Amino acid sequence: MLKVESLNVFYGNIHALKDVSFSVSKGEIISLIGSNGSGKTSTLHAISGLVPKKGLLEYGDFEIGGMAPEKIVSLGLIQVPEGRRIFANLSVLENLEMGAYTEKNRARMKRNFERVFQSFPRLKERRRQLAGTLSGGEQQMLAIGRALMANPALLLLDEPSMGLAPVLVDEIFSIIKEINGQGVTILLVEQNAYKALSIANRAYVLETGRVSLSGPAAELMEDERVKKAYLGG
Ligand code: ATP
Repeated sequence: MLKVESLNVFYGNIHALKDVSFSVSKGEIISLIGSNGSGKTSTLHAISGLVPKKGLLEYGDFEIGGMAPEKIVSLGLIQVPEGRRIFANLSVLENLEMGAYTEKNRARMKRNFERVFQSFPRLKERRRQLAGTLSGGEQQMLAIGRALMANPALLLLDEPSMGLAPVLVDEIFSIIKEINGQGVTILLVEQNAYKALSIANRAYVLETGRVSLSGPAAELMEDERVKKAYLGG
């Protein structure tokens, strides 16, 4: 579904991604794990067309490397940004509507609302509440719900566990799994390596802008290097 080959990203003199290559097949959950500054967000931004880059980015039959972000979104690659970036002064409903801005088909938009409210009943209860007054976990749900409104084929999730209490992290991850079960392919970027490996089919480890390890998530979970560096020994 997505093939990334020799991806390089520079910010001025900083070489943030160095020949990063990986692939995502339809139906998979793929996790990119790595510590602070290893290049996880840059990878997602490169795929979404938000930073200049070099390399090959194939999505199905499309070469998306040179496409504008809105074109990439229209192909079904939808990113949930780090830190959620919801519109604090808009209601939950209005935030969800913003996610559906590319959707012209009313019936499909209605179906998407129903689907989001089914996955996140709490958002339905709070649909008239200002998004800025939601709890951190609810805001993360809203950010994911907003992305679902755009009919994702491949959902790019940037640190969904950030700043959340463990019980909420569990809830968010089980929802991610559920969304994947409904046919949405997932590329997940996470510092919480344990959770990210728990739900992924395969994973890649990023270290200072390079892929240092990759393989089935269950195998990486048992890998001594991964245990030592990312799973607390
Ligand atoms: P974190 O987990 O802390 O979000 P990350 O793995 O997502 O980190 P990136 O945000 O991709 O890492 O950053 C990779 C490197 O690129 C870091 O050294 C970072 O300082 C640098 N970087 C990222 N964005 C910019 C920018 N806009 N300008 C300059 N340097 C940047």
